[in-house]
Amino acid sequence: MEKIRIIGAGLAGSEAAIYLAKKGYEIDLIEMRPKYQTGAHKTALPAEFVCSNSLGSIDILSASGLLKKEAELLGSTLFKLAHKCAVPSGNSLSIDRFGFSKEVQNIIESYKNINLIKEKYEKIDTTIPTIIATGPLTSNELCKEIKEKFAEEDFHFFDAVAPIVEKNSINFEKAFFASRWDKGEADFINCPMSKEEYENFYDILINSKRAPLKNFEANYFEGCMPIEVMASRGKDTLRFGPMKPVGIFDKRIKTDFKKHQFYAVVQLRQDDKMANLYNLVGFQTNLVWGEQKKLIHSIPGLENANIVRYGVMHANTFINSPKILNKRLQTKKYKNIFFAGQLTGVEGYSESISTGLFAAINMDKYLKKENMINLSNNTMLGALVDYITYENHKKFQPINSNWGIIGELDDDPKKLKDKIYKNTKRSNRAIEEIKKYIEE
Ligand SMILES: Cc1cc2nc3c(=O)[nH]c(=O)nc-3n(C[C@H](O)[C@H](O)[C@H](O)COP(=O)(O)OP(=O)(O)OC[C@H]3O[C@@H](n4cnc5c(N)ncnc54)[C@H](O)[C@@H]3O)c2cc1C
Repeated sequence: MEKIRIIGAGLAGSEAAIYLAKKGYEIDLIEMRPKYQTGAHKTALPAEFVCSNSLGSIDILSASGLLKKEAELLGSTLFKLAHKCAVPSGNSLSIDRFGFSKEVQNIIESYKNINLIKEKYEKIDTTIPTIIATGPLTSNELCKEIKEKFAEEDFHFFDAVAPIVEKNSINFEKAFFASRWDKGEADFINCPMSKEEYENFYDILINSKRAPLKNFEANYFEGCMPIEVMASRGKDTLRFGPMKPVGIFDKRIKTDFKKHQFYAVVQLRQDDKMANLYNLVGFQTNLVWGEQKKLIHSIPGLENANIVRYGVMHANTFINSPKILNKRLQTKKYKNIFFAGQLTGVEGYSESISTGLFAAINMDKYLKKENMINLSNNTMLGALVDYITYENHKKFQPINSNWGIIGELDDDPKKLKDKIYKNTKRSNRAIEEIKKYIEE
């Protein structure tokens, strides 16, 4: 059988290695720890959970639960092990992280055809089938190599991301679509504020608790400054920055268009091709999640906004997947090279495991010259892959599983107002598609 290289024995890499070992391939699994550490990992074990020990909900009526269910149906080993190592946590799947990594290690060691090599991988050999799954803390040397191999200037390093909300949870009695000075299409959703509303927002912001920063996270770019840092420079800094009100008018209000209507405006930009998700422009933040919620809900129009991604700040690396990858997670330039895990721009443990599995399935199919797996965006895994490889993002940013990226249902709009009805339908449709794929 052919030899396959898998780089990084993290969540995605371990899942991929086990899947392909089961198929009989010779696997070189290359991991740099413990010789070189990432700054976040603490052990020498594979599939280490670096922060929380939760894989999120197991309810298949939740986006994260559906993703896990799909991956389990497709043959995931790591989710199976997670259930085995589960600790009580209500409706979510949380694990004993040390026990879990030990289990993964035992399985890897039990396969004679997995050769675990403890070294830092620096040069990509495009003649060998390879899955690169080195995660958000990929070593600098490999980052440089990826950048050179793919001639990709947009190989991102980012420090902070802004929250994303669901459009259908925005109150359009207050919010409205417009572009600044009416230029081009009215692409932005605008949430206007009076002086009193801005002062209330500012007070909440300035008194909010920030998440602690580790050493490796401490530097951020000026152009990507967290909103709380900007606010600490002066009460009006935001009104001259991301919240500037000039040129934004609500046409429902009769006014002299030369005058400003509002004291400050929060703008939201479309984030997905189906226009279900909108990110808060310039609102990258490192506030703890509870405080972010309070802050966002203090914005007129976002009182009940459903936040599908909170702002986070940590050292993170992700490739420009829309340019580099096709919808099989294979690079467009070198057919032998696939990427998986957080490095592709998915975010989260479950997402990393699932894309590790997806890349492994496709590597197997590719080497056997069979049709590669092609899931539609009616499935959560298909929607994630579709999102990260969609070529027309204005600015590609990482994404986790959420309902906003999944295909619309063709059903009675009145019935779809019922969330349980809607999610049951979406979930059943996704599981049916996966089962059909497996049967075929
Ligand atoms: C600080 C931090 C906290 C996070 N907290 C959470 C959280 O609470 N919940 C959540 O869902 N997600 C969280 N994430 C995001 C993400 O889910 C995890 O990072 C997840 O582990 C990603 O899985 P992965 O397989 O892509 O990468 P990893 O699990 O990081 O695996 C990558 C592996 O590649 C190795 N490696 C790197 N470079 C090389 C090289 N050149 N040669 C050989 N090996 C190499 C690394 O040592 C590592 O073992 C967090 C991320 C970070 C950075």
